[in-house]
Amino acid sequence: MSHPTISIVGAGLSGLVLGRCLKQRGIPCVIFDRDTAAAAATRYSYGITLYPWAYRPLLRYLDMNEATFQKTVAVDSFIGGVGRLSRETRHGLSETEGFRANRRKVEKILRQGLDIRWEHDLTEIISEEGSNSMVFGKGQKLQASTVVGADGPHSQVRKAFTPDSNFTILPYAVYNGKCRVDPMTFEDKFAPHMNGANVIDHRIGQTLLQITIADRTENAVSISYTYSRPARGVADLGFTPERSAASASRITDQLFDEVRSLGALEAPFGEVFDAEKMRTDRLLNWLMRSISVDVAELDAGAGRGILLVGDAAHATPILGGDGANAAIQDGIDLAEYIVRNGTSDPAGFYGTKTETWRSYVRDGEERLAKMHGQAGANL
Ligand SMILES: Cc1cc2nc3c(=O)[nH]c(=O)nc-3n(C[C@H](O)[C@H](O)[C@H](O)COP(=O)(O)OP(=O)(O)OC[C@H]3O[C@@H](n4cnc5c(N)ncnc54)[C@H](O)[C@@H]3O)c2cc1C
Repeated sequence: MSHPTISIVGAGLSGLVLGRCLKQRGIPCVIFDRDTAAAAATRYSYGITLYPWAYRPLLRYLDMNEATFQKTVAVDSFIGGVGRLSRETRHGLSETEGFRANRRKVEKILRQGLDIRWEHDLTEIISEEGSNSMVFGKGQKLQASTVVGADGPHSQVRKAFTPDSNFTILPYAVYNGKCRVDPMTFEDKFAPHMNGANVIDHRIGQTLLQITIADRTENAVSISYTYSRPARGVADLGFTPERSAASASRITDQLFDEVRSLGALEAPFGEVFDAEKMRTDRLLNWLMRSISVDVAELDAGAGRGILLVGDAAHATPILGGDGANAAIQDGIDLAEYIVRNGTSDPAGFYGTKTETWRSYVRDGEERLAKMHGQAGANL
């Protein structure tokens, strides 16, 4: 069967996986991304938990065995590690299989051999007479019969056919910080308490402290940490759902006061959650968002030859969500759907997906509640 070229918007996890799988099956595709190639090579150096249900089916498309994949992309690959998780990671859900991968390393492997057009910021899709014109930031227009929106939670592709889909903002105050420690300090103050794990949690009441290893190099251990708790009403400066993206870096003294009020923390949490040290770290106030696009709207887009995968279709909260795993699974599944069915009935892809996608969002929200000791809480 001869296939028209598939246009994929977004060279993140779902877009790259889709691209690799299509390429391996001989189906032409081009990926467009708004970032520069240089920015893409240096972005997203953080840890993500990958589960076998998502990454094992990908390995045959990458022609890689599991051990090699893990050793290449694990957050601690520099010291020969395989991204070991801690036993508590799933908060009593006993799902400990899986490992911590560095997202930048995963994307680097996935990009190999793909036709990626960087600096293509999609602003609009115009559909006329059975064809789509993708309009990019610099005014360039390109024709495409099938467009796949793999452009993340704020998807422009989604806006082309469902401009009113809104996020649900979950009521949590969440702060993320980044810091680096030298390897000797890490061995002395962190390693003895981490037991080889790359994620550790400590809950005090409904406040969750999490320390994760993002990457390791010869000179530094990069740490990403979160302080999170349920929101406390309208006066809560840590939960401002109407805030702009730009003001995520505006951190008020409320956070530092709260951290101080926790008192002396067990090691190594006291090393990281030290209000004075935190002031010098790169801190962001995160919103926990989810979105599920309505099936009728997805079908309307598919009728125009426009499909969504990954966070564009079903964003889950960063804490508790399995968005990276879902993105990988979507990329593989859509490629296999196109191999079997071509592109004449794109809506058929959703038939196999919508219930699974709803469960990603529901499960992510429930895990977020459990992580904060709110099992059964009505969100
Ligand atoms: C700090 C952090 C930790 C996380 N931890 C985990 C975890 O442990 N486990 C887990 O499963 N998930 C985790 N996630 C979530 C996971 O990273 C996402 O769910 C996943 O990356 C979604 O993949 P995607 O392909 O849908 O979108 P993305 O990976 O967001 O990719 C979107 C791509 O589209 C491009 N783009 C966006 N807009 C445009 C446009 N207009 N034109 C062209 N290109 C565009 C972007 O540049 C990007 O390359 C985490 C996320 C964060 C931020």
